[in-house]
Amino acid sequence: MVEPLSSVVGQERALALLRMYIGAGAVPQGLLFSGEEGVGKEKAARAFAAALLCRKPGAEGACGTCPDCRLLASGAHPNFFFIAPETQFLRIDEIRALQEELALKAFSDRPRAAILCPADRMTPQAANALLKTLEEPPPGAHLILVAHRAAILMPTIVSRCQRIPFFPLAVGTVAEILSRHPDAGGDVPPPVIRLAAAVSGGSPGRALSLLPDLADEREAWLALFSNPSPAAAIKLAESWKGEGDAPGRLAAPLSLARDLTLLSSGGGADIINEDLREPLASAASRVPAGGWDAAFRELLSISRMPPQAQKRLMLEAFFFGLHGKG
Ligand SMILES: [Zn+2]
Repeated sequence: MVEPLSSVVGQERALALLRMYIGAGAVPQGLLFSGEEGVGKEKAARAFAAALLCRKPGAEGACGTCPDCRLLASGAHPNFFFIAPETQFLRIDEIRALQEELALKAFSDRPRAAILCPADRMTPQAANALLKTLEEPPPGAHLILVAHRAAILMPTIVSRCQRIPFFPLAVGTVAEILSRHPDAGGDVPPPVIRLAAAVSGGSPGRALSLLPDLADEREAWLALFSNPSPAAAIKLAESWKGEGDAPGRLAAPLSLARDLTLLSSGGGADIINEDLREPLASAASRVPAGGWDAAFRELLSISRMPPQAQKRLMLEAFFFGLHGKG
């Protein structure tokens, strides 16, 4: 499917620039879409490339119905190239193959669009080869570099490109995108979506990748808080050992502990994990007054520690401390 530019959410500044280029019919031959991973750069690059190839582009980008749009949607447009590294880095032969394709089609008067994604994973040889194309692009060829870490690109490459900056999104916007996403909406409880949005650093892509773990962790921690058996504590301690110290790793237990604190103090009108109100209320009543507040504070201070071995030990102590309280 050929998507319009408006399918990219929350990047109004970038979209305004792209619409301006299309409207003026003057599109730079080198473009650099820069910003955090997962904030919409690739989606925007695809929509923009579609607008470049479309016979009747409008303010929203490609029309979606002309022969070029239909060809692109079928995945067989001869003037569209999507270059992703086959291994860890884009290699010089992959850049050379693209150069040959672009040169081959130079007789056609139709525009050609190549997306390199991610362009910040390129060998130095590949980068030097690409630089030559950026210095003298074949007529009608447009190179769209998608870079999650533009700072590591060669400055000579950056200076040859018009930069289109993409920014982290607001938490509410990330949650909204997630709730409409086919991989997330429906099955995932809204509190888990909001948690993922909150710890995503403003990146819907990252939030999406965090969802399954957050859902599992929330379940495991609820089991521990509800019934702090040594078995539950050991299971959680083991999972922590396995996956290290990813950002937001304690988001799920913190949200549960916060809810437990509220519920045990007679509040709880606005708990985060609304879908778990019943099991949380019963867990809240299990511990004497002040117990959950202390647990929440302890967990909070652990979560604020930098990644280090001691953090894991403190967490293990926390797991077994809970058991003692139970
Ligand atoms: Zn079209």
